[in-house]
Amino acid sequence: MSEQCVFCQILNQQAPCYPVHETRYTKTFLDIFPASPGHCLIVTKDHYQDIFEATPEAISMVGHVSTLIAHTVKQELQCDGVGIFQLNGAAAGQTVFHYHMHVIPRNAGEDLAIHSRVSGDPEELRAMAERLSRRAAEMLDGVD
Ligand SMILES: [Zn+2]
Repeated sequence: MSEQCVFCQILNQQAPCYPVHETRYTKTFLDIFPASPGHCLIVTKDHYQDIFEATPEAISMVGHVSTLIAHTVKQELQCDGVGIFQLNGAAAGQTVFHYHMHVIPRNAGEDLAIHSRVSGDPEELRAMAERLSRRAAEMLDGVD
């Protein structure tokens, strides 16, 4: 764990988040600067800076859960598409240096921004987290 890391603070319940799902190895919550409504982040419970530090097991768990979260947002939001990606290093656009995957619902005609510059409305984020966590509980039943 790293004290300055905002994802570690969330994992240690020292910072708030809008939770969607949790397994033994991962936690999924909403990006508070959503590129689109329902933008999820899947993070490892252990602190790894990036793909070069993370273990193959951690990367594989994040990949597995990300796929299921993609199904979750597609089902719940009926979006046209889903972007799944992760960034390593400042040069690649990584802004939080704790390994994580983005799952972003996409709809035809919207621009393909990676991050929004404005934070999401807290009420909307809360409502979205509720919708997605309910759906994820069904879709990811038994995934631990
Ligand atoms: Zn961290």
